[in-house]
Amino acid sequence: MSGASTLQVGGPRPYLLHVGPGLLSDAGLLARCLRGRHVLVVTDDNVAPLHADRLVDALTRPGLTVARHVLPAGEHEKTLARFGEVLESLARLGATRDATVLALGGGVVGDLAGFAAACWMRGIDVVQLPTTLLAMVDSSVGGKTAVDLPAGKNLAGAFHPPAAVLADTTILRTLPERELRAGLAEVVKYGAIFDAGFLEWLGANAGGLLARDDAAVTEAVLRSCRYKAEVVERDPYERGERALLNFGHTFAHAIEAEQGYAAAGDGLNHGEAVAVGMVLAADLSTRLRLARNEDRDRLRALLERLGLPTALPAGLKPGALLARMRLDKKADASGLRFILWTAPGEARIVTAVSEDAVLRTLE
Ligand code: NAD
Ligand code: ZN
Repeated sequence: MSGASTLQVGGPRPYLLHVGPGLLSDAGLLARCLRGRHVLVVTDDNVAPLHADRLVDALTRPGLTVARHVLPAGEHEKTLARFGEVLESLARLGATRDATVLALGGGVVGDLAGFAAACWMRGIDVVQLPTTLLAMVDSSVGGKTAVDLPAGKNLAGAFHPPAAVLADTTILRTLPERELRAGLAEVVKYGAIFDAGFLEWLGANAGGLLARDDAAVTEAVLRSCRYKAEVVERDPYERGERALLNFGHTFAHAIEAEQGYAAAGDGLNHGEAVAVGMVLAADLSTRLRLARNEDRDRLRALLERLGLPTALPAGLKPGALLARMRLDKKADASGLRFILWTAPGEARIVTAVSEDAVLRTLE
């Protein structure tokens, strides 16, 4: 289809990521992503009425059996029980080893459907069809799949890279504004840690991105995925530098935990917490004389232009946030561990960060 761009994601099982308008109606492209006779489209009840028919129409052909599995939307549905129901749907479909799961949705659907594909008959293909900007630039690429347990987020899961990723930019037109902005925070993250020129580009194209212009979104998704793919290729199991992708996330996770994983209603959502977390990480970096004040201020200004929050919400206590960070899996015996900023486009993992500097950043 014209207007689509393609990126190869390497690793033990390379796959293609296609980005562009109209991909979900591209019957030829979809057919090339399938192997056997069985397809299960997993989606949620927000996305299904908006986009599932168009996809299923494009899939329909003799000899192919397509079924839908519609989950209730929301993070609190990313459970083992819902995962089990997807496996039951695969059983009802009579899915064989060459069946394909199509994950049509945001990161919740992608993680859950991907994990079901990883487990059905010890692993069948999943094709990721991300419908949120966050899923396009983050969760659909990299192969991590999971469900949450009562004890914590993403505790049960598997590394299961997709057979392909198709990011149809027109699908973002129905995405709520706040979800779009949340995805933009992760896009800014890639610029902040990998490419100063991309940060400049984001500043110049903020208007087009907020207007969901296909060309601007395609460029932002491709560049973000290229950075994620490169780092995932070098470190597929997160033993080293893949941790750079957690820039802003130590603070963000503490904020999210303190406000009790508030969904889109009260409190910050994940992308918003990451925006605040990146400004805090940049600020901590300036306190440790790693980064310059003016660079931190420019990062904050870019996030504000994209409509993202950049300051801690009132009512969150520095001591309580610090206590959360001590519990974060990124802390180790030597003290707190952070991804800190050394310059626009550069970050590094720093261990044994002084709690005092962190507290001053939070005050
Ligand atoms: P989500 O899947 O909950 O989607 C957000 C909301 O938008 C939902 O209500 C959904 O129904 C709705 N929606 C999705 N697409 C839409 C569209 N095109 N039009 C209208 N509404 C639409 O949330 P998310 O932010 O996409 O993903 C968050 C999840 O991703 C978390 O569970 C997180 O753990 C996971 N995640 C995984 C990875 C990974 O590497 N696997 C990385 C980052 C995040
Ligand atoms: Zn994130």
